[in-house]
Amino acid sequence: MVKCPQCGTDVPAPSKAWSLLREPDKRGGILEQKVGIYECTKCRTRFPFAYGSQKLKLVNAEKLQQLVTALADAKDKSTKLEQKVSDLEARKTALEDDIQHLEERLTINELQAKANALEREVTFLQDDKRGLEAEIATYG
Ligand SMILES: [Zn+2]
Repeated sequence: MVKCPQCGTDVPAPSKAWSLLREPDKRGGILEQKVGIYECTKCRTRFPFAYGSQKLKLVNAEKLQQLVTALADAKDKSTKLEQKVSDLEARKTALEDDIQHLEERLTINELQAKANALEREVTFLQDDKRGLEAEIATYG
Protein backbone atom coordinates (compact mmCIF):
# COMPACT_ATOMS: atom_id res chain seq x y z
CA MET A 1 0.00 0.00 0.00
CA VAL A 2 1.49 3.29 -1.20
CA LYS A 3 0.23 6.85 -0.80
CA CYS A 4 -0.25 9.09 -3.85
CA PRO A 5 2.26 12.00 -3.66
CA GLN A 6 -0.38 14.37 -5.09
CA CYS A 7 -3.53 13.70 -3.06
CA GLY A 8 -2.47 11.19 -0.42
CA THR A 9 -4.86 8.45 -1.51
CA ASP A 10 -3.76 4.88 -0.73
CA VAL A 11 -2.92 2.98 -3.89
CA PRO A 12 -3.11 -0.76 -3.18
CA ALA A 13 -0.99 -2.23 -5.99
CA PRO A 14 1.31 -1.10 -8.79
CA SER A 15 -0.07 -1.12 -12.34
CA LYS A 16 3.32 -2.28 -13.52
CA ALA A 17 6.21 -3.82 -11.58
CA TRP A 18 9.70 -5.06 -12.25
CA SER A 19 12.98 -5.83 -10.51
CA LEU A 20 16.14 -3.79 -10.55
CA LEU A 21 19.46 -5.45 -9.83
CA ARG A 22 22.27 -3.42 -8.32
CA GLU A 23 25.91 -4.05 -9.19
CA PRO A 24 27.39 -6.94 -7.18
CA ASP A 25 29.49 -5.92 -4.20
CA LYS A 26 32.95 -7.39 -3.39
CA ARG A 27 31.38 -10.48 -1.84
CA GLY A 28 29.20 -11.13 -4.87
CA GLY A 29 26.08 -9.86 -3.15
CA ILE A 30 23.42 -8.28 -5.33
CA LEU A 31 20.50 -6.24 -4.14
CA GLU A 32 17.29 -6.98 -5.98
CA GLN A 33 14.88 -4.10 -5.68
CA LYS A 34 11.25 -4.32 -6.69
CA VAL A 35 10.01 -1.17 -8.37
CA GLY A 36 6.47 -0.42 -9.40
CA ILE A 37 4.59 2.23 -11.33
CA TYR A 38 1.53 3.20 -9.37
CA GLU A 39 -1.50 5.02 -10.67
CA CYS A 40 -3.61 6.91 -8.20
CA THR A 41 -7.19 5.65 -8.22
CA LYS A 42 -8.44 9.17 -7.43
CA CYS A 43 -6.35 11.77 -9.30
CA ARG A 44 -4.81 9.41 -11.85
CA THR A 45 -1.26 10.58 -11.00
CA ARG A 46 1.31 8.04 -12.06
CA PHE A 47 4.37 7.69 -9.90
CA PRO A 48 7.16 5.15 -9.40
CA PHE A 49 7.81 3.55 -6.07
CA ALA A 50 10.47 1.13 -4.85
CA TYR A 51 8.93 -1.48 -2.56
CA GLY A 52 10.74 -4.37 -0.99
CA SER A 53 14.21 -5.60 -1.71
CA GLN A 54 16.10 -8.78 -1.17
CA LYS A 55 19.76 -9.69 -1.19
CA LEU A 56 20.90 -12.19 -3.75
CA LYS A 57 24.24 -13.91 -4.01
CA LEU A 58 26.10 -14.14 -7.28
CA VAL A 59 27.80 -17.53 -7.55
CA ASN A 60 30.02 -18.90 -10.28
CA ALA A 61 27.99 -21.61 -12.07
CA GLU A 62 30.90 -24.08 -12.11
CA LYS A 63 31.54 -23.54 -8.42
CA LEU A 64 27.85 -23.97 -7.67
CA GLN A 65 27.85 -27.26 -9.59
CA GLN A 66 30.89 -28.39 -7.58
CA LEU A 67 29.05 -27.51 -4.37
CA VAL A 68 25.94 -29.38 -5.50
CA THR A 69 28.05 -32.42 -6.41
CA ALA A 70 29.96 -32.25 -3.12
CA LEU A 71 26.67 -32.03 -1.23
CA ALA A 72 25.28 -35.04 -3.11
CA ASP A 73 28.49 -37.00 -2.33
CA ALA A 74 28.27 -36.04 1.32
CA LYS A 75 24.63 -37.17 1.45
CA ASP A 76 25.55 -40.44 -0.26
CA LYS A 77 28.40 -41.02 2.22
CA SER A 78 26.10 -40.19 5.10
CA THR A 79 23.52 -42.70 3.86
CA LYS A 80 26.21 -45.38 3.49
CA LEU A 81 27.53 -44.64 6.98
CA GLU A 82 24.03 -44.87 8.41
CA GLN A 83 23.65 -48.25 6.68
CA LYS A 84 27.00 -49.39 8.11
CA VAL A 85 26.06 -48.29 11.61
CA SER A 86 22.76 -50.13 11.30
CA ASP A 87 24.57 -53.28 10.03
CA LEU A 88 27.05 -53.05 12.91
CA GLU A 89 24.23 -52.68 15.40
CA ALA A 90 22.56 -55.80 13.98
CA ARG A 91 25.87 -57.71 14.23
CA LYS A 92 26.36 -56.47 17.78
CA THR A 93 22.92 -57.78 18.76
CA ALA A 94 23.71 -61.13 17.10
CA LEU A 95 27.04 -61.31 18.95
CA GLU A 96 25.35 -60.49 22.24
CA ASP A 97 22.95 -63.37 21.61
CA ASP A 98 25.89 -65.67 20.81
CA ILE A 99 27.68 -64.61 24.01
CA GLN A 100 24.57 -65.33 26.05
CA HIS A 101 24.26 -68.81 24.52
CA LEU A 102 27.97 -69.43 25.17
CA GLU A 103 27.59 -68.29 28.78
CA GLU A 104 24.66 -70.68 29.20
CA ARG A 105 26.71 -73.53 27.69
CA LEU A 106 29.64 -72.58 29.93
CA THR A 107 27.39 -72.83 32.98
CA ILE A 108 26.11 -76.21 31.79
CA ASN A 109 29.70 -77.38 31.26
CA GLU A 110 30.65 -76.24 34.76
CA LEU A 111 27.68 -78.09 36.26
CA GLN A 112 28.56 -81.15 34.20
CA ALA A 113 32.14 -81.02 35.49
CA LYS A 114 30.90 -80.72 39.09
CA ALA A 115 28.52 -83.65 38.58
CA ASN A 116 31.38 -85.75 37.17
CA ALA A 117 33.58 -84.85 40.15
CA LEU A 118 30.79 -85.81 42.56
CA GLU A 119 30.26 -89.10 40.72
CA ARG A 120 33.96 -89.89 41.07
CA GLU A 121 33.78 -89.06 44.78
CA VAL A 122 30.77 -91.33 45.22
CA THR A 123 32.63 -94.13 43.44
CA PHE A 124 35.59 -93.70 45.81
CA LEU A 125 33.28 -93.72 48.83
CA GLN A 126 31.56 -96.84 47.57
CA ASP A 127 34.94 -98.49 47.16
CA ASP A 128 35.84 -97.43 50.70
CA LYS A 129 32.55 -98.79 51.99
CA ARG A 130 33.10 -102.12 50.25
CA GLY A 131 36.65 -102.26 51.65
CA LEU A 132 35.37 -101.55 55.16
CA GLU A 133 32.56 -104.08 54.81
CA ALA A 134 35.07 -106.67 53.70
CA GLU A 135 37.28 -105.81 56.69
CA ILE A 136 34.34 -106.01 59.10
CA ALA A 137 33.39 -109.37 57.61
CA THR A 138 36.80 -110.80 58.54
CA TYR A 139 36.07 -109.94 62.21
CA GLY A 140 32.65 -111.56 62.06
ZN1 LIG B 1 -3.78 10.99 -6.19
